[in-house]
Order: sequence, then structure tokens, then C-alpha cells
Amino acid sequence: MKRRSFINQNSFGLAGALISPKIFEYSKIIDTSKIIQNTTPFVLSTWNVPESTQIAADALEKGVSALDAAVLGVAYEEKNLKNNSVGNGGAPDRDGNVTLDACVMDHNGNCGAVLAVENIMHVAALAQDVMEKTPHVILAGEGAKKFAIEQGFTPEDLLTESSKKAWKEWLKKGDYHPEINVENHDTIGMLCIDKQGNLSGACTTSGLAYKMYGRVGDSPIIGSGLYIDNNVGGAVATGLGEEVIKTVGSFLIVELMRQGRSPQEACEEAINRILEKHEGKPDFQVAYLATNKKGDIGAYSVVSGFSYTHNKNKINQNTNSNSVY
Ligand code: ASP
Repeated sequence: MKRRSFINQNSFGLAGALISPKIFEYSKIIDTSKIIQNTTPFVLSTWNVPESTQIAADALEKGVSALDAAVLGVAYEEKNLKNNSVGNGGAPDRDGNVTLDACVMDHNGNCGAVLAVENIMHVAALAQDVMEKTPHVILAGEGAKKFAIEQGFTPEDLLTESSKKAWKEWLKKGDYHPEINVENHDTIGMLCIDKQGNLSGACTTSGLAYKMYGRVGDSPIIGSGLYIDNNVGGAVATGLGEEVIKTVGSFLIVELMRQGRSPQEACEEAINRILEKHEGKPDFQVAYLATNKKGDIGAYSVVSGFSYTHNKNKINQNTNSNSVY
């Protein structure tokens, strides 16, 4: 695999205009001699994120690897101030700190993650750096931030005026009750298949709004928020991380697919595993999204409101997931 220090930003159109140049330093063109001509680039993302999926799809079309395309795709939402559950503008914890979590996993089973990082917007790219530039899988908190700065990421204040205002409103309620948004714009988990037929993924979040300082959910935990097996498929999660972690949801889905379940059956089983431990309708949301190597899609959530965006054959489509309630 050839590393390119820089890809012409203009060649990425929307991405070039909107995402920090730093991200492009990590975009590599895959070895074109290994391109499987019949493999159409495939992008699947949690929530209604047409720009992100388009950016990833355009990158895949140009021969970027699945991992780089996923990191590029989610970077758009990390920078998007309208999205208040990821990156810049993400909802803070109950003390007003924006702390971000992310992970990546590639087709070789390599992975990287960062937990509870402050002041660094593009945490999925940072997780990729942990994977590629250190002998470790996870860096947390101040250590992750120090590493980010060493790698050239620019520290910045990620608490926007509107997120600050919403947090101040929340403070008036005076009781500790974190919020899970069941409607839109939660964790962005993206699965990509590149022209070599390789599957990789990225997952990025500001986590549960108004969480305790230091709380980490499922999103940066390999096997919970994201899991990839290039022989089988991949899965991502969004929603209440504590419930996903307890059942190691994404790993469970990939293992169920390995045993012959379709992505849809596997997602439904993983949601059922959570619900088995609760009486009646729970007051939280968890949603799973999965694909196998053929590009069959599965999506399922506890309550309605979850949707996913799929880009195949250059067409973006947002679809509402089925749910238990
Ligand atoms: N899964 C994330 C977390 O628990 C939050 C979310 O997706 O809404 O941190």
C-alpha cells in the first residue's frame, strides 16, 4: 500500500472544502493492481448523513481504501456544527466539557481507539493514528490529546454557543439524567467496502449528552460500537452505550453472521439480547447497523426513530430501520 502524503483536496470536492486538511494527510490510494473490477464501492452509515456518505463514496470511487474513506466520511460530521452529538458542537458532559470517543477497524483486524478526548475535533482520524503510528490500540484522555498534538492536530474549543445554551438549560433541571436522542444525529458509525473488496469502519461520538465527566460509552470500544471481520461483515451501534457494552453488540452481530444469520437477523438477535434483561418497553434507544461482505444490510432498533444512509452505485438512500417498539 502506497502512502500519499497529500491528496489534492479539490479532487474530493465537498470534503476538500469542509474538512480540515489534516485529514487528507491520511488518505492513501490503494494498490491499483489489486483492484477487483467488479467490486462497487459501498458505504453504510448510521443516521441521515448524505454528505458524509457521499464523501466516503467519492473517495472509494477514486481508489481510496475503505478505512480512509470511512475516516474521511465521518470527518464531515465531526466538523458539522449542526450535528450536536459528534465532534465540534457535540453536547458536553454535565460539567460543560466536550469529550469525544472514536474507533476504527480495518480489513486486517487492526484497530485503534481514543477515549474521552478534549479539544480535538477529528477523533476518528486520531484513532487511525493510534492504530497506525503506535504499538497500542487505545489512548485515553490527556494522553490521547498529547499524542494528537504531537501528530499535528490543532487543539480547539469544541463547545459551541448553542451547545452551551442547551447545556445551561439542562443544568436548570438540577438532576443528573443524561439524555439519549432517539430521533436523529447520534453516533456516526460508518462501514465501507473499497474497490479491493475490503471492509473497514469508523465510529465517532461525543457520547451521551450531559454524561458524568470521564464517562465512556460503547462507541470507542472495539466489539461494542464497531466490529469488522473482512471474511464475514461489519456492524456499528448507536444509542445507550452501557447497554451495547453489556452485550458486546457489534461483535455479537458479526459472530451471528459468521454462523449463517443474515445481517437483519443478527441485528434483531442483538437487540433481543438487550431486551431480554428488561421488563416491557425500556426508556432508552439502541440501534444496530450491519452488512455482510455481499453488501446485504441489517438494521434494527429498540424504539422507532433510527435511520441509516446507504450509498451504492453512486446513489444515496436514507432508510428508516424497523424497531421493536
Ligand atoms: N453510543 C453513544 C454512547 O453511548 C451515544 C449515542 O450513540 O447516542 O456514548
